[in-house]
Amino acid sequence: MKYNIATIPGDGIGPDIIEQTILVLEKVGQKYGHEFDFTEVLAGGCAIDAKGEPLPKETVEVCQKSDSVLLGAVGGPKWDNLPGDARPEQALLGLRSVLGLFANLRPALLHNALKDACPLKPEIVGDGIDIMVVRELTGGIYFGDRGRRAEGKMGEEAYDTEAYSVGEIKRIAKAAFDIAMKRNKKVTSIDKANILESSRLWRSVVTEMAKDYPEVSLEHMYVDNAAMQLVRDPKQFDVIVTTNMFGDILSDEASMITGSIGMLPSASLGEGGLGMYEPIHGSAPDIAGQDKANPIATVVSAAMMLRYSFGLDKEADAIEAAVTKVLDQKYRTGDIMSSGMKMVGTNEMGRLIIENI
Ligand code: NAD
Repeated sequence: MKYNIATIPGDGIGPDIIEQTILVLEKVGQKYGHEFDFTEVLAGGCAIDAKGEPLPKETVEVCQKSDSVLLGAVGGPKWDNLPGDARPEQALLGLRSVLGLFANLRPALLHNALKDACPLKPEIVGDGIDIMVVRELTGGIYFGDRGRRAEGKMGEEAYDTEAYSVGEIKRIAKAAFDIAMKRNKKVTSIDKANILESSRLWRSVVTEMAKDYPEVSLEHMYVDNAAMQLVRDPKQFDVIVTTNMFGDILSDEASMITGSIGMLPSASLGEGGLGMYEPIHGSAPDIAGQDKANPIATVVSAAMMLRYSFGLDKEADAIEAAVTKVLDQKYRTGDIMSSGMKMVGTNEMGRLIIENI
């Protein structure tokens, strides 16, 4: 099969980590008989410099025509003083919107070899943590009606509105159940149904959706309890599905318990398989172009692309297993370095992953 992938290296360490990730995908292509066709496009600060805008039309067109998008990172001090709507980060919001990316997937995976980086006690961590947070990305309070009014109870007042429709909840719930079917078949839906009407609708729609997935066990949890349970007993979770704002907060909490920012991938999915895959970290301008960046977050983002956009589970497993092997062989980039380990740069880390595929 041939797959068209739009690549957006972006700024800072973006080009360093995307280069290695493309090499990894090419290796997977050779080994398993797939053709990955890459088209590089501009977005972020480099697009502002070259084209005068963070998300040029040509970039949008290439991404829309592709089977998937692989992104490094955007932004940096050079563009920090631009006004809000001209900043590099606008490219990300613009791409999410034009590509209709409504589901954000943030795995929090703690490798056994990196257990020491976890701030939780060893008896809580056991032999590792593996949670997938599925966050609704285009609705809820971040997009609801908002404003200010002069006559509040105690003076001027500001308000934001949480609103979810049945259709929005159904599609994110379906995404979560489909993902659970590829994992350990458990979904925890997180809401605040004891207080919020929008959460009560959320809960009833998710419960209804569960009937289509008899193999998946569904549990509901209030968000305040979920925040506690994530640090008290993170191993109870498999797939978490939740709203935009709750997901924003809980996905950061879940990723913190896994240690390094250089390890964590993410995916944003739209209807019909198209997705945008990127590490959760930023452009790390302090180490850009110095062969110091950890490419693993981007490499495992590419593994997510194979699994969730292309249905290539075996190939995704091969990348993830290679990363685990390299870590077990004690190779580390600077961000995850500890005593007794072997320090390598971006390119060598990429080469080692390829060697292990
Ligand atoms: P950052 O994630 O870029 O860096 C935070 C720290 O982590 C730095 O010390 C950096 O060197 C380190 N780090 C990050 N990724 C690493 C990796 N792969 N390997 C090794 N070390 C790594 O966050 P920041 O410094 O707050 O932001 C820098 C720029 O990135 C800003 O312009 C910001 O707006 C942008 N940003 C972009 C995205 C994105 O493109 N999705 C996300 C967050 C921040």
